[in-house]
Amino acid sequence: MCYALLFVIISFLLHPSVSSPADSASPPVRRKVVVIGGGIAGAATASFLGDYGDIDVTVVEGNSHLGGRVFSTAWTPEIGASVYHDVNAYMASFVKRLNLTTALPYAGGGTMGLWNHSSHSVVFATSPGDLMTMGRSLWRYGRDALWMQRAREAMVERLLAIYPKQEEGTSYETAEEMLEDLGLAPFLTMSLTEYLASFGVRTEEQGGVLLQEMVRALCCINYGQDETINALAGCVALKGRGKELHGVVGGNKRIVEGLLKAHDVRTNARATHISRDEYTKLYKIQLSNGESVSDVDAIVVAAPWETANLTFHGMPADFSPPQQPSYVTTHVTFVAGVINATYFDADTGADDYHTMLIRVDRGGPFRSLGKTRHFHASQSVYKIFSDNKVHDEYLRHVFSDVVEVYRFTWQGAYPFLAPLKKTSEPPAHFFSLGFNIFHVSALEYAVSTMETQSIAARNVALLVRREFLRHNRTIIPPRPKTWWRWWNNEL
Ligand SMILES: Cc1cc2nc3c(=O)[nH]c(=O)nc-3n(C[C@H](O)[C@H](O)[C@H](O)COP(=O)(O)OP(=O)(O)OC[C@H]3O[C@@H](n4cnc5c(N)ncnc54)[C@H](O)[C@@H]3O)c2cc1C
Repeated sequence: MCYALLFVIISFLLHPSVSSPADSASPPVRRKVVVIGGGIAGAATASFLGDYGDIDVTVVEGNSHLGGRVFSTAWTPEIGASVYHDVNAYMASFVKRLNLTTALPYAGGGTMGLWNHSSHSVVFATSPGDLMTMGRSLWRYGRDALWMQRAREAMVERLLAIYPKQEEGTSYETAEEMLEDLGLAPFLTMSLTEYLASFGVRTEEQGGVLLQEMVRALCCINYGQDETINALAGCVALKGRGKELHGVVGGNKRIVEGLLKAHDVRTNARATHISRDEYTKLYKIQLSNGESVSDVDAIVVAAPWETANLTFHGMPADFSPPQQPSYVTTHVTFVAGVINATYFDADTGADDYHTMLIRVDRGGPFRSLGKTRHFHASQSVYKIFSDNKVHDEYLRHVFSDVVEVYRFTWQGAYPFLAPLKKTSEPPAHFFSLGFNIFHVSALEYAVSTMETQSIAARNVALLVRREFLRHNRTIIPPRPKTWWRWWNNEL
């Protein structure tokens, strides 16, 4: 009897009253995930996680508004990401699910002129008609234009293979694994020029002009860089023309806002510090507004690592912060006014037929100048992308009448996308940074668009789900009494 009692007491001491993880009779516990960053990557992650039905998502955003690099104001149309392409399945599905309307992102027919700043001339211009554009393109670039198209499609086809894979539940620990599986890894160590040349596009030395005109212009407008960027990002930059591109009426930020409607969203709430409870293995996130979010199963950082600027305490042993690319600064200037057409082309006048002009020679005060689609009925509004601030004095040359100017600077617009060096040990960009802590922006070193960030978001949602299924904890065990923790050397 005495021994039996002793046995009961010892059993109780060794096993305080916590429920067994494998206790199948316990009701399933909902998991809690905090997503840091309310841009498209954070919104897409929240949306994909929400689809599982048993995960509660809180999104914390440092700014007062959602969207991150998807941003517009009442006066200015897209200051950041303006278009997605027909083949971007996630963007198209978000737009459909949220019942949003799309439109061409630029005013008029979306015609484009390639502008040589040194000679003050438009060297090539598309036309509102596809046939006419094709004719002009063949006339100036010959078969190089066809080879470019073919090269781009071959790359895009590889990228599109991600959708069925993700539908089947395939996930990747690193961006490299994903790119390898899609057959895209070799294109990260290759420049766009080399890739296009391998399809027969003539280089400058071979007498071709496509690379230093059309290709350079598209890399310049999309990434503020030139045709020497990696072949994957380069082909994404060469994405389609007018009618294949879409923007949401009222701003692409409506996608982000729409996706986050169903979730707990905190704005003006910058995540500053992450700590992990040694016993429960749950995270706590400290916010800049003094609040905190506790008992969090998993954290997803959906922002470039450097800008997130987080500090940590008690992280799991396998946690290691990611490597992050450096980013290009981009200035955006909106001008309401009347353009001085003679500045661009004395014969034709830029305003007559180009809604977008893109610089093809290096240097010069702007990368692109485009007529945007809405606001102020009485004046046209132009959007200028540039490497440096565009000063009022220059604007007075370009515009015969300037009514209003709005300037914005993106410190971290897009990553520098130069091809990676071929090394025996290629870098690893981890989506999974340690136990239940994830990073969506891992893919950005290779390519940066709303769609590719959404692909990364789906991958992270799959990883989170996989981890939750693997570590099947049904309830959070209550914290043992102090004496128990002392006994186990936890204090
Ligand atoms: C000028 C410009 C034009 C572009 N054009 C296009 C285009 O036409 N088409 C296209 O597809 N892509 C375009 N892009 C690229 C596209 O915008 C990005 O790839 C995409 O928006 C990145 O989304 P993200 O959510 O990963 O990052 P971000 O949009 O940068 O979002 C990160 C968010 O996290 C927040 N944050 C950071 N740290 C913290 C913290 N500690 N706590 C809380 N919140 C935090 C930030 O405030 C931000 O809101 C463009 C980008 C720029 C800059």
